Formats: sequence, C-alpha cells, structure tokens
Amino acid sequence: MKRFLLMLVAGAMLTAPAKAEERKFNSPDGKIVVTVSDQEGKPSYKVDYDGKEFILKSPLGLKTNIGDFTEGMAMLPEKVAPRLVEEQYSVKTIKQSKVDYKATEAVMTFAKGNRPIYDVVFRVSDRDVAMKYRMYQQRDTRACVIHSEATGFMMPQGTTTFLCPQVKPMGGFARTYPSYETGYSVDDAIGKNGWGEGYTFPCLFKNGENGWILISETGVSSAYCASRLMGHKDGLYTIGFPQQTENNGNGTAAPGIPLPGETPWRTITLGATLAPIMETTVPFDLVKPLYEASKEFKYGAGSWSWIIGMDGSTNFNEQKRYIDFTAAMGYETVLVDALWDTQIGKEKIEELAKYAADKGVALFLWYNSNGYWNDAPQGPRGIMNNTIARRKEMKWMQSIGIRGIKVDFFGGDKQVTMQLYEDIMADANDYGILCVFHGCTLPRGWERMYPNYASSEAVLASENLHFSQGSCDNEAFNACLHPFIRNTVGSMDFGGSALNKFYNANNGPRGSKRRTSDVFALATAVMFQSPIQHFALAPNNLTDAPEWAISFMKRVPTLWDEVRFIDGYPGKYVIMARRSGDKWYVVGANAQKETLKVKVELPMFEGGDKVKLYSDDEQLNGSVSELKIKKNREVEITIPCNGGVLIEK
Ligand code: CA
Repeated sequence: MKRFLLMLVAGAMLTAPAKAEERKFNSPDGKIVVTVSDQEGKPSYKVDYDGKEFILKSPLGLKTNIGDFTEGMAMLPEKVAPRLVEEQYSVKTIKQSKVDYKATEAVMTFAKGNRPIYDVVFRVSDRDVAMKYRMYQQRDTRACVIHSEATGFMMPQGTTTFLCPQVKPMGGFARTYPSYETGYSVDDAIGKNGWGEGYTFPCLFKNGENGWILISETGVSSAYCASRLMGHKDGLYTIGFPQQTENNGNGTAAPGIPLPGETPWRTITLGATLAPIMETTVPFDLVKPLYEASKEFKYGAGSWSWIIGMDGSTNFNEQKRYIDFTAAMGYETVLVDALWDTQIGKEKIEELAKYAADKGVALFLWYNSNGYWNDAPQGPRGIMNNTIARRKEMKWMQSIGIRGIKVDFFGGDKQVTMQLYEDIMADANDYGILCVFHGCTLPRGWERMYPNYASSEAVLASENLHFSQGSCDNEAFNACLHPFIRNTVGSMDFGGSALNKFYNANNGPRGSKRRTSDVFALATAVMFQSPIQHFALAPNNLTDAPEWAISFMKRVPTLWDEVRFIDGYPGKYVIMARRSGDKWYVVGANAQKETLKVKVELPMFEGGDKVKLYSDDEQLNGSVSELKIKKNREVEITIPCNGGVLIEK
C-alpha cells in the first residue's frame, strides 16, 4: 500500500505540466521591458514602459498546414543571450537621412513535442518593440502555408484608439476597394472592429495618461502577404490576413513560406509622448535593400494638371502648359496622369518628353496596374501586370527619359499582389525608373528595401478635396492625424498644398472650396513627407497667389535629414519641425474651432536668431514677419482654425 502511494506520487510528478518558462529583456536604456512566457503551453509576451503596462499579456503563435503552433508549445532554454545590435545606415528618401540604430535582440525558441518549431525574434530599441517568427524546417518538409497568426496586442483598460477601418473588397469606384482611403475615428473606445473587417495599418492607441502606442508592420515583400489588425471585444487586437474576396477572389489570403522561412516584422512604437511615434525609424531599421539601385535616382517637387483639371486636362497642350509652369517653379517633374494613352498617345508623349527635357523637366507617367482584379477603366491598362509588356514599355520609357511611373488601382494585400509590387519595382530599377503607387497598400519598409521606390498614396489624398466639399471641410482634421499615423511609417504621396481657392482650372467660385489657409498649404508641404512631391499648384498661382507663398513653394525641400515632434494631439493640432541640410522648418496646423495659442520651445534655433514667421490672422489672411528668437527659445504660436504656421531661418 505504501509502495503504491509512492508510485502514484511519482507518476503525478512525471505528468504534471512543466513549470512555465518566463524570460525578460529590455531596451538599451532599460525603460522598455519585454516579458515572454510559455504559460499553459501558449506563447505570449507583454511590454512595460517606465514601470507601466503598455501591452498586456498577448498571444503569439502560428496555425499552419503542418500543425497548430499556438498551443502545446514550450519555450526552450536560451541558446544565445540577448545582445546589442548596432547599425548606421542612410536612406535619403525617408524622414531621417542618417540613422544610428541600437536595439537589444533576443531570440526565444518554441518547441512542440520536443521539436523546435520557430524562433520569435525580438528587437527592442529605446522606442520600439519588434518581433517576427523564424520557422524551422521539419524533417523533409520545406514549405508551409500559414493559415493564421495568433499574434496579438492586448491594450490596457482605458486605452483609446485612432484607427482607420479596413473596407470590404470589390466595392467603391469600379470595384477597386480596398484602396486604403478610409477616414479615421479618433479617441474611440477599444473593443470594436471597425466595419467588421478590422483596421488598416498603422494603428494608433493612447494608453490613458501613460503614453502612446503605434502598431504596424514592416519588411513585407513577395515573401508574405500584408496584414491588418482585427479588433476583439476585450481590447485584444490580432494580426489578420487579407480578405479572401480581395483581387476579385483570385489568389490565396493565406501566405506561403519556405522552411526555414520567416514572417514580416510586427512593430510596436511607444513612449510617454508622441515624439517616439513621430520620430520612429523602425520601418527602416529592420529591413535591408533587396537589390542595388541601378543609378543615382533624382527626387524633388513637381506639378500635375489632373488634381485641378481632372481627366480632360490630360491633353498635349495642357501638359505643355504644366511643363512651362514646372520650369517656372524651378521644379523637377510633371506627372502626366490617367488616359494619356488615348488622349495624347505615345508619339506625342515622346514630343512632350523632349519639350520638357529642353526646360530641365522630366515626366512621370500614370499606369493602371490592372489585369484581372477590378473594373478601373482608365488607360494604359494591361501593361504593368505583365512582365513582358511591362519590360518592353519600360525600355521605351528609358529611351525617352521618363523619370518615373505612378501605378494605380491595385487589388489588395494578398501575397500575389505583394509579388506584383515587387516585380514592378525590380523591373523599373533595371530601366532606371522611380515608382509611385496609388490606390495601393501602405508601404512597409519599401524606401529601404527597394531603392527606386519613391512614395505611395494609401491615404484619403488630395483628389478627395476636389471630389467633395466634406473632404475640404475635414482637411485640417486629417492633416493633424497623418504626421502621427500614416506618414510616420512611410512616404505619403498626398499631392496637396493647393493655393487655388477652388478646385477648378479657373479658380472661380464653383466646385469644392478650400477651407484652409495659404500658410496651411505651405506648412503641409513640409509636414507631409515624400521624396517626390507633385503639388496641387496650378499655373494661375504664379499670378493669383501671394508672392511669399509661391516663393516658399519654389524652394521647399522634398528630402529631409531629421524630424522633431514639438507639440500636438492627433486630429486637433500639430506642431513639428523638419531639417534639410542646416535649415530647420517649424510647421503647424490647427483643426480645432478655437484658435490655438501655445508656448513652445524651439531648441533648433539659437537665442538671437532672426527667423521668418508665416502666420494667419483670424480671417486666415496670411502674412510674413520677422521674429527674433528669445534667449530661452520660447515662441508663442497662434494658429486659427484651418490655419497654419511656418517658421524658417
Ligand atoms: Ca486614389
């Protein structure tokens, strides 16, 4: 009897679950602490900042066609201790030309049935936590399909959200949804799921009084799909794959990877203020160039007739007029938008390209991405989706000196579409052509991954200001969101900074009326970062806009060396600074009904510096004055509703 009891005890000890493993590591400055655990066989992690909870215990794991790796998992003993990763790199097309990257790398290996299945690789900088899965080969299995990810982000109670809902596919203009052009709801509660389809990256959260959290992903190439964030009742947000009906149902929603193979990085940027959110370089820190640039690409400002003149303006004479205008502005390029194939024709495009070249101007040409995924009728169609036709076309473009392409109306986020983006960029690089995408997904690290990638729309851009008065009424509200959300993770081709009072070629009182001031237009030219800018300026602005406005727009940089958050609140107001060379530009906008009056410190200037202050009166009349910076570098900034501010030395 005694012996039997002993055996029972021993048996119980053998079958009792292994004690949960828990491991902690932190950012180089020690403020961000990540805790990873395999409690109850379920991989999880949590993130604390400065002793406060930012991401509560959240799930990790993958469900695949070779097994469910979200449960029954055990964290293996550490093979390599957390180590410091340091890298200096330069990318001139992002918010910060030179980056000094420092992060802790920690690798956790998870096993099932004693076989290692995946590593979760973490990178923790002083403002970001990033993680990806690295899957092992399983015996002779060298490929697998990821059915879903458990990867989640559990928000603390009281967190509020600043999110852009994902739309259902195949709706909207010519069944072109999703086109990543939905509006934001701000200061909303957690526990919702948008319009039932989750949210488009990046996703901003306010962790009560503790600070801010921005969730996104980077390193997405043809090797995976792009993801979105699905909301759940209790404040959990999880990685969601594309919707099956994207691309008219063609292509798989679930990505395939080789084994060994890996997922993209998922990133959490966090801090007590909005500075880390606006200044983060995490989308670029974690990726590497996928090929070498075929040449030194040229960036800069330009103009496009379509934003004011629409489809009818894509004709030979109007493009010629815009080439003259671009030359008069000292700009680099003219974007010839949709329908040039039928309204101008290739022969006449060659003539335009020559005419432009004589004036030191180059052309961008618009293309429809479309093969078989939506009904967008604008030409040229059926070229960019086909390798043979595309390369032939690009050879022609190269022969007449075309600077870049703007490819529009993509089909969604499936791996097959990521392949298309990548193929277009790789081919364009061979022919020395820059790529701009519209009707497209968020770029995820592409500025560094693809050296001839310039910019993407993926925002309710300037065309909506033309299309609807409602967008004009909300222009300042949206402008006060982008520096904290969409534009902070990637170049944003907004195509704005209109100085027309009305969105029509005569600038007369019909159609959409601009609500924002001229100073606001100048401020957004700095605020919205994109290495290629086709501003919504029109030839008439040379004579009907204030001289100081046109003169600033002539010299506004499009490449930046640094960005600084100064003050603001998403959707209410923003004050920020960008540096180009040794010149700082401080800009601001206000979307609140009341005039904003705020004292800010501007450490980029010296006491005694004389700076130019562009500001608005209550009626939004702009003017320029000289301001002497005080010893304490404090400046009182006043911005009326829909107005702006700009300070340059
Ligand atoms: Ca668009």
